[in-house]
Amino acid sequence: PDFITVQELANRMTEKGSDIIKALMKMGVMATINQTIDQDTAELIVEEFGHTIKRVSESDVELELTGPEDKEEDLKSRAPVVTVMGHVDHGKTSILDALRKTDVAAGEAGGITQHIGAYQVQMPGGERITFLDTPGHAAFSAMRSRGAQVTDIVILVVAADDSIMPQTIEAISHAKAAEVPIIVAINKCDKPEANPTKVRQDLLQHEVFVEEMGGDVLDVEVSAKQGTNLDKLEEAILLQAELLDLKANPDRAAEGIVVEAKLDKGRGPVATVLVNRGTLKVGDIFVAGSEWGRVRALVNDKGQQIQSAGPSVPVEILGLNGTPEAGDEVVVVENEARARDVTDFRIRQKKEKQSTMPKASLEAMFSKLA
Ligand code: GDP
Ligand code: MG
Repeated sequence: PDFITVQELANRMTEKGSDIIKALMKMGVMATINQTIDQDTAELIVEEFGHTIKRVSESDVELELTGPEDKEEDLKSRAPVVTVMGHVDHGKTSILDALRKTDVAAGEAGGITQHIGAYQVQMPGGERITFLDTPGHAAFSAMRSRGAQVTDIVILVVAADDSIMPQTIEAISHAKAAEVPIIVAINKCDKPEANPTKVRQDLLQHEVFVEEMGGDVLDVEVSAKQGTNLDKLEEAILLQAELLDLKANPDRAAEGIVVEAKLDKGRGPVATVLVNRGTLKVGDIFVAGSEWGRVRALVNDKGQQIQSAGPSVPVEILGLNGTPEAGDEVVVVENEARARDVTDFRIRQKKEKQSTMPKASLEAMFSKLA
């Protein structure tokens, strides 16, 4: 069935009509600019041009902006992104604070650290680890429910004097559902009543098998309070990261995820973004969920203005036209027209989803925008 005109398809992708016609010819389809092509052909063309169509469900499709997979030879290793989870009062915040103090780059920067939703620690050997600064399961599941996978590794904090508690179990199931490896930080080991062995044993019941119990989950006995073994915890993270072989192509248009966003009185909408691949630069035009902007400034976790941010580098973006949501995908696009087009489409799609008769077809995706 007729689906979309070549012209409309070209507009949607901000590609030249003549290029689409050429691509169609290669596929053996002869069409003029005003002719309509069917859905399957349109999909093939969309893919041919490096845009991909994401099937959210059988009947629901969304235009995916992200580019094609990177070539193996373009990939470079990147810092692991770590989320800290665990039962209330087991020491998540204390561990995040203590880890932050291990950053060797903080001194050079004058030690100004500000809360931007994520921070990066540099180890004495130069390796880096990125921590999501919002401990807790709510943020993790909120992002995941939006399809955003930002975390490579979960640090499961278990207090050695309290062992497994309800939110510990919850954290385990979150990590397992997301298929993210766990590292167990057995905290509060400075306490006389600390019993790390009990923690390891209790974890068995929840199918977390640490090395000492014959499994392959790494665990470290720490004290956030006394700053004990944080280097060991970081080593475990780097070891796990090595096993995961985390890589990204830094030399391409940036793609990332919003980890935090707010409307700042002085600076306007501000989003903290973790770049997945590519390098985000001042001046880039980007889409973030249903918002878009031009990067006016990039601010790192030490409050410094920087010119660019590569994979796994947490950075605040200034220059948005509105406030996006945590979990929104950030994609750099070629021009303002494209950014407007995409956000218009997404805003309209949101409205359509909210209406009682959800009209969610591929046709809706391609239908002409104002
Ligand atoms: P969260 O709710 O998991 O973020 O836990 P917090 O980091 O707020 O810590 C809860 C309480 O445990 C605070 O009173 C901390 O001072 C204390 N605490 C955290 N880590 C340690 C530790 O390693 N040893 C001891 N003795 N207390 C700790
Ligand atoms: Mg806390």
